[in-house]
Amino acid sequence: MSVSLKAKIADVFDEPACDINQGKSEKERKKGCTKQLSPGAAAGGCAFDGAKIALQPVCDVAHLVHGPIACEGNSWDNRHSASSGPQIYRTGFTTDINEFDVIYGGEKRLFKSIREIIEKYDPPAVFVYQTCVTALVGDDIEAVCLRAAEKFNKPVIPVNAPGFAGPKNLGNKLGAEALLDYVIGTREPEYTTPYDINIIGEYNLVGEMWQVKPLLDALGIRVLSCIAGDGRYNEIASAHRAKANMMVCSKSMINVASKMQQRWGIPYFEGSFYGIGDMSETLRQISRLLVQQGADAELLERTERLIEVEEARAWKRIAEYRTRLSGKRVLLITGGVKSWSVVAALQEGGMEIVGTSVKKSTKEDKEKIKEIMGDDAHMIDDMTPREMYAMLRDARADIMLSGGRSQFVALKARMPWLDINQERYYPYAGYEGIVELVHQIDRALANPVWQQVRQPAPWGEDGVTLNAMAV
Ligand code: SF4
Repeated sequence: MSVSLKAKIADVFDEPACDINQGKSEKERKKGCTKQLSPGAAAGGCAFDGAKIALQPVCDVAHLVHGPIACEGNSWDNRHSASSGPQIYRTGFTTDINEFDVIYGGEKRLFKSIREIIEKYDPPAVFVYQTCVTALVGDDIEAVCLRAAEKFNKPVIPVNAPGFAGPKNLGNKLGAEALLDYVIGTREPEYTTPYDINIIGEYNLVGEMWQVKPLLDALGIRVLSCIAGDGRYNEIASAHRAKANMMVCSKSMINVASKMQQRWGIPYFEGSFYGIGDMSETLRQISRLLVQQGADAELLERTERLIEVEEARAWKRIAEYRTRLSGKRVLLITGGVKSWSVVAALQEGGMEIVGTSVKKSTKEDKEKIKEIMGDDAHMIDDMTPREMYAMLRDARADIMLSGGRSQFVALKARMPWLDINQERYYPYAGYEGIVELVHQIDRALANPVWQQVRQPAPWGEDGVTLNAMAV
């Protein structure tokens, strides 16, 4: 690990906005918050993967991965971040290094690749990602990017987060550091207004942001930049002129929010777009912050009027589902901000949460769950697939909401399942999103396939079809 990468990781862990971090001794803080990965045990994603996930949604730049082809192959487009225009972000650029590059170094190949991209595609910037092998052979991507930027007169941004640096979460932060070091603050916006905000940690999964933006438009609030969903390079470069920041995905990009506050005095808050109550509270918080920063106080009234109309419309639309879904028991296997924001949304749909996993949740996330669910909050620290299976088979839950990796557990138990993680196919943000979530849960529960697969097979003796229980 190069000295500069070590220093950068130490810097990322020195996070004044994190209470846990500030509660530690100097020595403990230096050790960092995440465990070093063991070789071969990088399940859940490496640091490079985290950096790529965090930045790939910037959709008008070329994302070039310097390393063996498998690194890019594994990380390409693994979030369904939607773009309203440019599509270059979905092209998998890689230097695809070979044995000769390992022996002689891959810097020349990297430089040539940057040149080829600029000549063929001419994007506003090129992001270059370091990976394990190229870091270990000592390729200096910062130096190559600097030379290429001078030669081609175009921003070439090094993202130094090789896989061995740590897990995905650390990679998110290192990706964000690249924006802080090389992008944010390098351009001026064409104009500014007292209603300019940045949204940080929002990835526009399946176009979720487009369910929130019309609400902000209706209030006259301008999204100066979204980091990084449907993001544009020039907008992110001028993000330092916003009047307020909203941080969406809990702590994954807290370093952007806290460092923008330190450098440019931009206040921020943490909010969620999931659930009627949380969506309204988020709109209120944005308006309050903007008014504190000099926007017209009339914005607060406008916000309340919009909330009243939107809430009434959303409640009306979910009312017909509430009768069918009332009392349905949900097992929620997700993490982080979703472990509480989705809980609130489900309760609004009349459902009961029999368990929510908190393995990847922070202390604040857990406190929020308690706040929402009261003392009988069923927080699950770590649930094995076998336990999930048993819970579903014994019908202690009617449906499981989780990521794609756990879907087969539900399917083997012949119970409904809905994808709630980043690979999901439906947008659940905003007032529209809660209606969509309730609609999708209703569809999953009412799907006639469950009755059919639970029928005894014609060849079965005791109603058991196949012994598919090797979970
Ligand atoms: S960066 Fe390293 S850990 Fe990550 S995919 Fe590439 S080789 Fe694997």
